[in-house]
Amino acid sequence: MQIQTESICIRCGKVRIVGKTWLEKMDRGNPITHTETICPDKECQKIVDADFAAKREKKLLITTNRAAQAAATAAATASAKLS
Ligand SMILES: [Zn+2]
Repeated sequence: MQIQTESICIRCGKVRIVGKTWLEKMDRGNPITHTETICPDKECQKIVDADFAAKREKKLLITTNRAAQAAATAAATASAKLS
């Protein structure tokens, strides 16, 4: 049984409503019900969604940059050792 916790919109502070629910079938046992909550204000939800998307992209970019930097440092260290 899933406990429904009330969530508040981070932007306008309204109590979020259930946007959609879907079932995830498990290999064993009962399927899990996922619930997605959205802001009752459609325009507000759009802004929140865009905000989240932007943040996700930024995070991804930082992670990618760090990985590239680490690779570059490793390569530089390796070539320094060679010479
Ligand atoms: Zn809102």
